[in-house]
Amino acid sequence: MIGQTVKELLLEKQENFLIDGDKVATLLDTHPLTHAFLVLTKVGYTKIPVLNSDDELVGFIGLAQVVDNMLAIDGVDFAQLDGKIVSDVMDSEVASIREFDDVERLFHLAVDHAFIPVTNEKNEFIGIVTRRELFKAINHLIHTIESDYDILKKKNYELVK
Ligand code: AMP
Repeated sequence: MIGQTVKELLLEKQENFLIDGDKVATLLDTHPLTHAFLVLTKVGYTKIPVLNSDDELVGFIGLAQVVDNMLAIDGVDFAQLDGKIVSDVMDSEVASIREFDDVERLFHLAVDHAFIPVTNEKNEFIGIVTRRELFKAINHLIHTIESDYDILKKKNYELVK
């Protein structure tokens, strides 16, 4: 379990590791797959969040899922995307956190996911936390903790070499 003090120290810097929703490339579940292809190619991210018209997080979509739908027997055919929309191919299993209620869960999710979407209590998308930003926050913490705080060792233990 992450102790309360460490949680507070980490969350002191939460504005540094939350990438605000308006700076995050997203798609709507109703967007045509042709549009998704263009957006994903342009932004260059492996996968991005999908929202519905109420700004709720409903899935993820990546270029691989779109290209997979372009495959024909004799190669790649862009026309295969005609009539298909994002919700037809997106991954609806969304692992997200509700603001910063559960730091424990945030770190567990960051082990397997390059980014974690953050929602508010109305389930509206408010941004993402990337593993990179989280790592930068930890890096800052471990470099400053001993100069900024008095740390008392409670137990004696032998260092294993
Ligand atoms: P990074 O740690 O910056 O490489 O980002 C990890 C992943 O988070 C990227 O591959 C994207 O899937 C997602 N991501 C990061 N920044 C953005 C953004 N501004 N818009 C959409 N997705 C993003």
